[in-house]
Amino acid sequence: MAFISFDLCAFVLIIVLLICFYYKKYIPNTQNKTFLTLLWFTFSTTLFDILDVTATSFGPMFPLWFHQFTSYAFFITLNAIPPIYTYYIIVLTNTQKKYLKSMKAITLLLPIFISFFVIATNPFTNFIFYYDGNMAYFRGPGQSFLYLVSFYYLIFGILYINRYKEIIPSNKRIALYSFVFLATIPLLIQFFIPSLMISIFAVTICLLLIYMTIQNPEEILDYSTGLFNRSSYITQASINFGSEIAFTTISIRINDYSYFRRVFGITQMTAIAKDIAMALEHIPLKNKRIYYMNDGHFNFTVNQEDMYDKLPYELSKLFEHPFGVENMELNLTAQLCVINIPKDAHSIELLMDYVDFTINPLLQGNIVLFTNQVSVNDKNRTDKIIRAVQNALKKDLFEVYYQPIYSAKQNTYHSAEALVRLNDPELGPISPAEFIPITEKNGDIIQIGMVVFRKVCSFISKQNLKSLGIDYIEVNLSVAQCMQKKLAEDILKEMAFYELPTKCINLEITETAAAYSPETLAENMKNLALSGIKFSLDDYGTGFSSMSCMVELPFDFVKLDQGLIASMGNEKALIAMNSTVAMLRQLDMKIVAEGVETMEQAMLLEEMGCDYLQGYYFSRPIPETEFLAFLNQKNKNNYS
Ligand code: C2E
Ligand code: CA
Ligand code: CA
Repeated sequence: MAFISFDLCAFVLIIVLLICFYYKKYIPNTQNKTFLTLLWFTFSTTLFDILDVTATSFGPMFPLWFHQFTSYAFFITLNAIPPIYTYYIIVLTNTQKKYLKSMKAITLLLPIFISFFVIATNPFTNFIFYYDGNMAYFRGPGQSFLYLVSFYYLIFGILYINRYKEIIPSNKRIALYSFVFLATIPLLIQFFIPSLMISIFAVTICLLLIYMTIQNPEEILDYSTGLFNRSSYITQASINFGSEIAFTTISIRINDYSYFRRVFGITQMTAIAKDIAMALEHIPLKNKRIYYMNDGHFNFTVNQEDMYDKLPYELSKLFEHPFGVENMELNLTAQLCVINIPKDAHSIELLMDYVDFTINPLLQGNIVLFTNQVSVNDKNRTDKIIRAVQNALKKDLFEVYYQPIYSAKQNTYHSAEALVRLNDPELGPISPAEFIPITEKNGDIIQIGMVVFRKVCSFISKQNLKSLGIDYIEVNLSVAQCMQKKLAEDILKEMAFYELPTKCINLEITETAAAYSPETLAENMKNLALSGIKFSLDDYGTGFSSMSCMVELPFDFVKLDQGLIASMGNEKALIAMNSTVAMLRQLDMKIVAEGVETMEQAMLLEEMGCDYLQGYYFSRPIPETEFLAFLNQKNKNNYS
């Protein structure tokens, strides 16, 4: 009985593993199916071994057929485990199709066929075991042969891992190797001391190890959709590159996804993403793999031989119907990019550039694109911009333009927004919408922000803007600046240097800044507000537009985002705008409408109750001298 205690432990462990496997969602792909087969075979072998040993120890109490049955079942299941494990390794490198189709398949299949043949002919040969008349069990010489076959598979496994070591991440490789070693040592022990039955227990421990490392579902799944995640896409693609497997990825990106997420919230959009995932899963194609890359971005992948021309259009068609959850339906459109690997992308880096292709905002509706039609995120461009910014900081190439802001009540231009401009000697003009986010990431924005602020101060101190009707200049603060503890101090110091009264500056801050470092921002704003500086909440209507920001922080102005203004043509959007303006007025906020491009918009907004208007209809952002000329012309009636 003592000898089967290892088996009993193994049995409990394997049941726990099976429960865990089924309890956690698993995707029925080849890897998981192979692992599950491994679990079931280990389960069966343990069960038969326990029955067999128990029967043997009680001898004649059990009928002969029972002895025979448990012994045969045990040998068959036990000897199937090493080849299944080796197959599992092959599956991990995604080379199983290639392997099984070639002549090499013999090296995997022949030994196990011979083993099975030997087991099947045992009744006639007694080569492996036999029972005597008293139902006592006797080993035959064939058991050593079966051990040798098992060793063969384990060595096969080691060689295979070695051959593909570049494409199996090191922690997983270690788990695979340790399986081999953990299985070999007890096998050797058992080879010499057959009564010590520890190899099944060792195999079970190995399976546990693999379950915790390679099969770890948290690592490869996106829980919101139940699809594979981005990192597992990268792993799989790298494996395919390493094994020279041709495949096609159709990268699907939902148009305006982040906008929808802001409007409807993360929970709703996650439910929608899940709905899309289901629709993609229902495409009747057996060997597909679907990944959720995040933020409304899916990758649909098939091996080259399963790919057909119509597939991208079938996927695109899915978006002709609304997606929905419970009480909400949403008409979405998507841009799809078809990438054939290795034809279109010969490296993982290039592949990822295509996968993360930039959505073309000029193309409306559902679109199928091919790699030559998409613009990839140009990493070179980012590097070039970083260099251009640093060059501009060194050589003082940044300029500040001013966009006049019209006061509806006074009928004059009463302020202006300072907007930074960069004209690189090589790259030409670079939009702040492009370089500001890049410099937010590397911290250069803080220096840029100070350069702009200094230029604005210098401009105000040199010109008598007040006499031209300008009460103050609005300056944008970046998120990174707002996170600086000494922001208030720096700003006040600069203004003191130019001997400017604090009321001639208005600082524009977006909600995002409040989201990142609420305490620092609140502290900075408090100190600046005490000194008399006023604040505008920028880009209102693009973020989460949480009220707390407006209520808790000392904002005096709210700038309605140009996106809101642009959507006023829509009747419902107009209703929403009306009540937004009414609400802001009740909160005693002064309202600035941005991005006013037409006279109709200007009239509507004024009627609605917006205090100030800014946009191309009035003037584009213009350089200092032009701005002065503009004021001289437009404001002169009142102020000359
Ligand atoms: P923003 O603060 O929302 O600035 C308004 C943007 O809208 C400016 O783009 C302006 O040129 C543009 N705009 C003004 N009127 C209209 C219109 O009628 N129609 C349209 N379509 N656009 C209009 P710009 O100058 O390219 O700046 C883009 C963004 O870059 C700014 O958005 C701001 O977030 C950032 N930025 C610009 N200068 C600075 C700066 O000195 N510091 C910081 N931190 N950010 C800046
Ligand atoms: Ca602004
Ligand atoms: Ca704005």
